[in-house]
Amino acid sequence: MIYEYVGNLHVHSSYSDGHATHDQIALAALKSSIDFVVITDHNIWVDGYDGYRYLDDRRVLLLTGEEIHDQAREPQKNHLLVFETHRELAPYAREPQRLIKLVKEVGGQSFIAHPRDPAAPSIGEPDLSWVDWDIHGFTGLEIWNFMSEFKSHIKSIPKAIFYAYNPTLSALGPFPEVLERWDRLLAAGTRVVAIGGTDAHATPIRKGPLFRVIFPYEWLFRTVNTHILTKEPLTGNAEIDRKRLFSNLERGRCFVGYDLPASTKGFRFTAQGDGAQAIMGEIITARFGVTLQVKLPSRAEILLLHNGVQIRRWSDREAAVHTVIEPGAYRVEVYRSFQGKNRGWIFSNPIYVTN
Ligand SMILES: [Zn+2]
Ligand SMILES: [Zn+2]
Repeated sequence: MIYEYVGNLHVHSSYSDGHATHDQIALAALKSSIDFVVITDHNIWVDGYDGYRYLDDRRVLLLTGEEIHDQAREPQKNHLLVFETHRELAPYAREPQRLIKLVKEVGGQSFIAHPRDPAAPSIGEPDLSWVDWDIHGFTGLEIWNFMSEFKSHIKSIPKAIFYAYNPTLSALGPFPEVLERWDRLLAAGTRVVAIGGTDAHATPIRKGPLFRVIFPYEWLFRTVNTHILTKEPLTGNAEIDRKRLFSNLERGRCFVGYDLPASTKGFRFTAQGDGAQAIMGEIITARFGVTLQVKLPSRAEILLLHNGVQIRRWSDREAAVHTVIEPGAYRVEVYRSFQGKNRGWIFSNPIYVTN
């Protein structure tokens, strides 16, 4: 039995540059019906807020991570999301590789936040991409960051106003460069877990005629989420459930879903081999071939990739099956039409086939 939990892994509170308290963010998460939310303030690990919050018959698990970068570096780059460190590691931000190593040593996980993050001068936002790629040992990549994608569209103040009022038009999917980088790592045999996040700040923007809170938390929590799959259900005990979610996240038993056009809940990518089965993030042996299976919650276009190369494409399908023998990392992308464009909907983590 597989259980699925939807959550947001990249959120800022008023402890850094977000515009809400932990309680307000938890309430927004409850209203948008996600299962967990991880608050990742800049360079501060905030202790004491973790736990379940309730509204009517719903509950949300509020957890704390951190987004660390070297504040003395000019220009500012290299944002790292860290989870499960249970301590402040921001003082080690100057050397990304050392920081990644330390996170691992204390039992935590590290994800490169918004690997590509273009500047948006019209709203005074600099480029915050990751640039020091001579690193290894990180858990994964935030392949889809809603805010970075929004920034990429607003080349002028009129465009900023347009997209601030039509925010759903900005989301098309992860940047191709980020997917290419992920695929290169996978093809080289590295295990890299993909996550998606909103980078929610609920920032009030004041620019000429524009005054608007861009992307309130509750709205963002209905957009790009990470769906974690577990083999045991959550219990309602915050400590047990925190470990359950993060241990499955670390293994890559998860996918990135853009839940606004239609819920991505129920997506499955599985493999059946010689007496063995695997879900996303797992390894399976292909001695006699492996059957890969894709199931969608509703019809859409499905792409199957092997080490970054598209090997199959199905249009307007709710399920697909393909048998493979070649070792490597297999992953799935799903696209659907929404507001006049074909948009990224689901990005699976890989199933790793070995021989
Ligand atoms: Zn950041
Ligand atoms: Zn952030």
